[in-house]
Amino acid sequence: MSKPTNTRSPSTPHRTSQGNRDFRKRTQREARPAAPPQSRSVPVAGDATAQAAIILKEGREKSLLRRHPWVFSGAIERIDGTPVSGDTLQVVDAAGKFVAQAAYNAGSQITARVWSWNPEEAIDTAFFRRKIATAIAGRAGLNLAKDSSGMRLIHAESDGLPGLIVDQYGDVLVMQIGSAGIEHWRAQIADILQELCNPACIYERSDSDSRTLEGLELRCGVLRGTLPDTVEVIEHGLRFRVDVADGQKTGFYLDQRDNRKLTETLAEGRDVLNCFCYTGGFSLYALRGGAKSVLSMDASGEALHIATDNLTRNNLDESRAEWQEADVFVALRKLRDQGKTFDMIILDPPKFAPTAAFAEKAARGYKDINLLGFKLLRPGGLLFTYSCSGGISEELFQKIIAGAALDAGVDAQIVRHLHASGDHPVLLSFPEGAYLKGLLLRVAD
Ligand code: SAH
Repeated sequence: MSKPTNTRSPSTPHRTSQGNRDFRKRTQREARPAAPPQSRSVPVAGDATAQAAIILKEGREKSLLRRHPWVFSGAIERIDGTPVSGDTLQVVDAAGKFVAQAAYNAGSQITARVWSWNPEEAIDTAFFRRKIATAIAGRAGLNLAKDSSGMRLIHAESDGLPGLIVDQYGDVLVMQIGSAGIEHWRAQIADILQELCNPACIYERSDSDSRTLEGLELRCGVLRGTLPDTVEVIEHGLRFRVDVADGQKTGFYLDQRDNRKLTETLAEGRDVLNCFCYTGGFSLYALRGGAKSVLSMDASGEALHIATDNLTRNNLDESRAEWQEADVFVALRKLRDQGKTFDMIILDPPKFAPTAAFAEKAARGYKDINLLGFKLLRPGGLLFTYSCSGGISEELFQKIIAGAALDAGVDAQIVRHLHASGDHPVLLSFPEGAYLKGLLLRVAD
């Protein structure tokens, strides 16, 4: 099987929701699995009396041999035995040779996700303890989050645990499950996290839309311990309130930690516009970095409420900060019509393209806001622009931005290519893990 041509994302997208369900649909900002390259096909049932196994079609083991951890339904010749979703099955090639051990999901187009490439490795509680301990220890050794109490402890496929996201906010862990395999081991995983991290609370936020694609029901609530009234995360010494139960994704966008820090270092003396500000992440960094003014916009009043609370928490100068509840697409046009300009603009929108199928429409959205952004920048100004769409590749994103600059009539240079922080590692054999891409651009004087 050739590797899927469309871009897909980690199975447990972490950029999700607002409290209100309808709004949630509009505010999602992370990628989720796309439709597979082939039309939907239900694997054929094989010999029910044989040992449960997934038998691949001729030649369709190739992507697995390159250690890509997904088995698409279209690659499957037949399924022997009578497995149920969540079971661990052997995956074998057309000749019956072992390829992998994987978690089965009858209800997903990704019919299996690989646990292990080793036929001897037992997939049991000890296996999950090893994987989780390795993910945590790996991060500890990399000095990823100086002066911070927030960390993505487990990044799904990239940490060898397809479908599992665990974010840490101080002594609260938020767990998001996006696969039948992890669903099956949910209680054991919670016990292991409790044992290894000893948090005050493990909260489950299994409410991302991708669960529906996996045939899993949405579920949220306390899994272990008690959720404190207020959860706070410290990031590079800045304090942010995290709405674990109702905030977007697991409550905070840890993936932008390094990029926010970079913003701080470049903000001094600048008039800054922060679009899609959520709870004020980039805004607070810009203020601490000495920005002359920071205008922040978001469509979510609840997010802005937390943002202003965060400003107070950090004793930052309120007179330099302005908050607007607005649709950025409309607000940017208004600013343009008013002749407003800025020295630094941040565009960190929700995902416009959950899958490659949405790429064209998404491209129009990215081009629109970036074109307006370029027009609002003063000569020599800086644009931080991001896409967290799994359906938009880094290369395509750069092309869209180039088109926007051209149409805006500005020359701009790429100063930096930006990505998610290091606690969101990307497994080399799973490029879909690199959902967040960004550019720091400087427009000509
Ligand atoms: N930069 C933020 C994360 C942004 S997430 C941080 O560092 O924390 C994307 C945000 O876009 C969400 O807060 C969502 O409420 C907001 N949003 C979605 N559509 C919007 C629109 N059309 N106009 C304004 N904000 C929007």
